[in-house]
Amino acid sequence: MIDSYIGYSCNPDIRYKATSGGIGTSIIKYLFDKGIINTTITFDYDKSTLQYVPRLIYKYEDYKITGSIYHEVKLINYIRDNIEHIKGGFACFVLPCQARAIRSILNRHGINCILIGLTCSSQQDIEATYYLLKRLNINKKDVEYIQYRGNGWPSGIQIILKDNTQKFIPNNNSIWTQIFHSRLFIQNRCFKCQDTLNVNSDISLADPWLKSYIENEKTGLSLVSLNTEVGDKILKDMRNHDYIILNEINQKELTISQLTTIKRKKTYREKKNIIDYINKLYISDFYRKIILSSPKLFNFHCKMNAKLERLFIKSLH
Ligand SMILES: Cc1cc2nc3c(=O)[nH]c(=O)nc-3n(C[C@H](O)[C@H](O)[C@H](O)COP(=O)(O)OP(=O)(O)OC[C@H]3O[C@@H](n4cnc5c(N)ncnc54)[C@H](O)[C@@H]3O)c2cc1C
Ligand code: SF4
Repeated sequence: MIDSYIGYSCNPDIRYKATSGGIGTSIIKYLFDKGIINTTITFDYDKSTLQYVPRLIYKYEDYKITGSIYHEVKLINYIRDNIEHIKGGFACFVLPCQARAIRSILNRHGINCILIGLTCSSQQDIEATYYLLKRLNINKKDVEYIQYRGNGWPSGIQIILKDNTQKFIPNNNSIWTQIFHSRLFIQNRCFKCQDTLNVNSDISLADPWLKSYIENEKTGLSLVSLNTEVGDKILKDMRNHDYIILNEINQKELTISQLTTIKRKKTYREKKNIIDYINKLYISDFYRKIILSSPKLFNFHCKMNAKLERLFIKSLH
């Protein structure tokens, strides 16, 4: 039986700066404070590639609250290549498709690990960000820093240019939403993915995409599922030590908050042949060249894709 909660960090700074309610960052802080881990991963922003780069750290003070990173990070490779630099207990954030491989690498090396799972609808290629900049008439060379989430909820993309100009593109109902849901920039493996809630991690975190929170929440809340006894103990200890506030929530509600994604992924299994065809079309140079050549064609693609997804979901068994 999975326990589900909604909560937030008792540290207002963490709660505000984090993606949702800052439970993820609070877990890292708690694990270092209690000496349960000695190593984790943080991310540095590389303005030459406009990408976040993972880095092993050995104390909480070196951890940066980056918010969700919406471009592919080769985390499995990074952990495999840096395994000898992991000291003592280890925790890191993982996407559902990374959880099993990362746990297996760490287990093989006898490293005690806690995997904090991020719920996941899809992961974008960095080309999604480049396309966004193009649509905003921003030259890549002028970008100092990009953060995709954090600093309030649900927030959006925060772009800082080298001349200190700041741009904000909301997470919902914006050109970024269109790009994100266009499926033109997602990883190939996302068209086959069946796990949304990150069931192989110890603790799963999600945004509360439920009507009442979308309408009223401004600071941030995290949805939490406890998948293992280890995860359960950590979260309950954190609550008892006033790191976080946790309130029980019905598992059904948590599922409803991700229902469109769960159903869309189900269509990937039930309609495998046609989805394979669509995937091939979306990655073909010819199709992309045409669709991305004008905002009108891009809008047309987005409308058609959304219609198709709705149709497939409607016909699910
Ligand atoms: C690609 C992606 C897709 C997502 N899709 C959904 C979704 O469909 N529905 C939903 O409810 N939630 C989704 N999330 C999760 C959600 O955005 C929050 O990350 C989650 O709610 C945790 O919030 P928090 O405030 O508790 O964590 P935080 O305190 O913000 O901590 C999260 C930490 O995760 C790490 N991190 C961020 N991005 C990555 C990454 N790509 N790879 C590895 N580590 C990373 C960073 O260190 C960051 O500080 C997604 C996240 C990502 C990265
Ligand atoms: S949708 Fe699935 S395959 Fe794609 S990044 Fe998320 S967990 Fe991985």
